[in-house]
Amino acid sequence: MKYEYLLDWYDSNKRTLPWRNTKDPYMIWLSEIMLQQTQVSVVIPYYNKWIKTFPTIEKVAKADLDNLLKLWEGLGYYSRCRNFHKASQYVVTNYKGIIPRDYDLFIALPGVGEYIASAVMSIAYDQSYPAIDGNLKRVISRYLGLRKITKRNLFRIKKKLNTMIQINPGDINQALMDIGSSICKSTIAKCSICPLNITCKAASSLDATQYPEKKKKKSIPTKHFISGYISYDNYILITKRPSTGLLAGLWELPMVEYRNDSKLIDVLNDYTTKSLGCGVNIINKIGVVKHAYSHYKICITLFKCEPKNINVKNSQWIHLNEIDDFTFSKANHKLFNSIGIIND
Ligand code: SF4
Repeated sequence: MKYEYLLDWYDSNKRTLPWRNTKDPYMIWLSEIMLQQTQVSVVIPYYNKWIKTFPTIEKVAKADLDNLLKLWEGLGYYSRCRNFHKASQYVVTNYKGIIPRDYDLFIALPGVGEYIASAVMSIAYDQSYPAIDGNLKRVISRYLGLRKITKRNLFRIKKKLNTMIQINPGDINQALMDIGSSICKSTIAKCSICPLNITCKAASSLDATQYPEKKKKKSIPTKHFISGYISYDNYILITKRPSTGLLAGLWELPMVEYRNDSKLIDVLNDYTTKSLGCGVNIINKIGVVKHAYSHYKICITLFKCEPKNINVKNSQWIHLNEIDDFTFSKANHKLFNSIGIIND
């Protein structure tokens, strides 16, 4: 077959990753979810810990969401974790714990999109679906010499991939993923060691990285927050985020968004009095923490405060020793670090 050389290349060059050398669809699904928007080196310890704690989909389905979020803490994009929990429960309830082999049934599960469905169907079940993520789009657009990722060119990329995955689709998909992540990267193309170089159109150009044209990065807005490290006798006040939206269900130091021209101390006093019931006396400014999400950045100004009273609502006092029992966002861990009470 025409693309067998890719399989030979993959056999000798594939990355050693904990989710490779298994056909278990649960493990492959989990790895692909964790890998979305996240680097392999970051995912590996999370994946290993998760599989050790929850070796089967039944265990995930039965688990408390707070425990799953704790394991996910620091990996970001927490909706992936919540959706995986929901999807696992659906699979256990409706499919006796067997992950569907049918693409349409699988893609209907929460959090499963075209890429995840194709990756799992091809790697776990040997079905011919091209797993088209950003890496594969780049590799194949270079291979075909496509300048732009248009709708028409996406169709061409898919068509080409369909011809490539006729044998062992899981390994071909993974070979192309590995080429995309280690050889044919966004800013560098190591064509001399690439198994596709003989027939790749971009390889014969002056600069293969010009394919496809890069989109200009949009500038993203910054939102400003004020936060209070409110404490007494080694207890600190934390609040739980709403059950939907960004960082749903995670805990954080009390914080509220403000407009640039607001008087910060008034904003914090007002918020802690009206929403948390305690009110605060501000002791001093601790510092400013910045963090970036995909669509905006945040800038949090943190103040050390003492409560005017300890009867609170919509929030909870915890002892400093209990911090590890709760799940906090990365931005919140940065706040903890600025106070010097916990390390990432
Ligand atoms: S030959 Fe070069 S441009 Fe073509 S896919 Fe390989 S690394 Fe990318």
